[in-house]
Amino acid sequence: MQVYSKRQQLNEAVAKLKSRGLTIGFVPTMGALHTGHASLINQALTQSDQVVVSIFVNPTQFNNTQDLETYPRDIEQDLIFLKKLSENVIVFTPSTEDVYGSNVISTPYNFKGLEKQMEGKFRPGHFEGVGTVLKHLFTIVNPDKAFFGEKDFQQLQIVRKLVKIENLPVQIIGCPISRANDGLALSSRNKRLNAKHRAAAPHIYRILDQVKKDFDKKDILTLNKWVTAQFDNIPELDLEYFEIAEAQTLISHTQKKENTRYRAFIAAFAGDVRLIDNIALN
Ligand code: AMP
Repeated sequence: MQVYSKRQQLNEAVAKLKSRGLTIGFVPTMGALHTGHASLINQALTQSDQVVVSIFVNPTQFNNTQDLETYPRDIEQDLIFLKKLSENVIVFTPSTEDVYGSNVISTPYNFKGLEKQMEGKFRPGHFEGVGTVLKHLFTIVNPDKAFFGEKDFQQLQIVRKLVKIENLPVQIIGCPISRANDGLALSSRNKRLNAKHRAAAPHIYRILDQVKKDFDKKDILTLNKWVTAQFDNIPELDLEYFEIAEAQTLISHTQKKENTRYRAFIAAFAGDVRLIDNIALN
C-alpha cells in the first residue's frame, strides 16, 4: 500500500500508471473508515486497475465549526483498515494547503436547484464546499471513475452535475447503502452516539422501510403525517426533515406523478449527532 500526502507525489504516481494504460478508480472519503467505505472501495477494485482512496476532512463543507472540530479522525486506524482491505490501494492524505493552497474558500456553484433542497436548506454552503473540494481532488487524482455512496444521495446527484458543469472526464458510480444488522446506515458519525442514542437510531431506517412498504397504498400527505407522529414518540430522536422527493430533481412532492422515481429522505438528531438516511420508494 502506498501512502502519499503531497499533491505532486500523488499526481505523478497516477500519471505513471496512466501512461501504462491502467484505469484509475477513486474513492474520496473523510476518514474514520467503516464497512460502508469498504463497500465503495471493493466496487472500485472490481471496476478499475488501480484504486486511489483519499482521506481528507474538508473544512469548506462544514457550516458548523463544532461539527468540523468533533468530526472523528483516526488516520492510523484508517491505514490499518485499508491495508487489511487491500495491499494495492494508493492512499492520499493531503493537508488543507495541499488541496486548497492558501485560498481555503468555496467556489460559488449553481447546481440547478439540487443544492437548494434538503441538506442545502439546513446546511447552507455545504454543497459548494463539496463541489469545490471534489473539483480540486478530481484535478489532482485524475480518475477514470469515482465511487460515491447513495447514503449521501443528494451529494451523489450534485457530483453528477458537477462533472457536467466542469466538463470533467470522470464517470460517477453510485453505490448502495451499507447498513448495520439493525438497519442503521453506517456512518463515521455513529462513533459519536451514546448507548441510548445508538439504540434509538435504527428507528430511522425502520420508518423509511415502512414508508417504502406503504408508498403504493397511501398518499404522500398521509405518509408525511405518519412519519412526524412516529418521531414524536421517540424522545431520543429529533426529526429535522422528512421528505419524499423525485430522485432526479430532489424536489419534494405532496402528490405522486406517473413514471417518476421517488425516494424518501430523513435527517434527524440523536443528541448532538446529525444522522441522514434515504431509501428508494419505487
Ligand atoms: P464520508 O467519509 O462520510 O465523506 O463518505 C465517503 C463516501 O462514502 C461517500 O461517497 C459516502 O456516500 C460513502 N458512504 C458513507 N457511508 C456509507 C454507507 N453506509 N454506505 C454506502 N456508502 C457510504
